[in-house]
Amino acid sequence: MISTHLTKLAQQQNWQTLELEDSIYGLYNGYRFTVMEGKGFKAVFVSVAGITADNLSALQSWLNSNTRQLKLRNYELADNFLCVRLQESWKARTAEQIEWFLAQLSGMLSQFELPADACAICGEAADKQGLLHGLFCALHPECQDRETVDFTRSGETSGVSAETAADLAETGAGAEQKNPDELLAAKEQGASENPEPADTEEKLNG
Ligand SMILES: [Zn+2]
Repeated sequence: MISTHLTKLAQQQNWQTLELEDSIYGLYNGYRFTVMEGKGFKAVFVSVAGITADNLSALQSWLNSNTRQLKLRNYELADNFLCVRLQESWKARTAEQIEWFLAQLSGMLSQFELPADACAICGEAADKQGLLHGLFCALHPECQDRETVDFTRSGETSGVSAETAADLAETGAGAEQKNPDELLAAKEQGASENPEPADTEEKLNG
């Protein structure tokens, strides 16, 4: 179930929600973000396809040196996506706190000249967008059959497994998307298992 904080953030930013993934996604400062619930953290995803190696390492340095200030649990770079986990202790981050982090991160992405419209698979400019393994990003529909040009190779790997882009789904806005469940180790990584049922719907019998 999507928390009230994420629901509020989605409403404030006019983002979409993906109930099955417990995630929300949309544009912030020109970049496409996906934010997911985890147990004791929120995970923020953004494609870094198209970034230069120097700027990628500058981005990593920034994350490393601001771990405490940003209250990060950890971060990962894999298959062209950056996943940042925001630590939550006894108190969940509010919509305003998550937005504050998005403002910091998007500012740095802009400073490190990350192209906002780079296809998450090939890194070239794309005028289409969609969900790749549940993550919102710029995409060429035709790239789904292509091999990923990995801009994150120099970073740590693991976490996101994106061997093919078979789950790529084009989206205009608001359309329901497929939710590949193998994706996003967001919930498994960095958190103990969370076997709570996702479905809280109750059937009403007349
Ligand atoms: Zn492409």
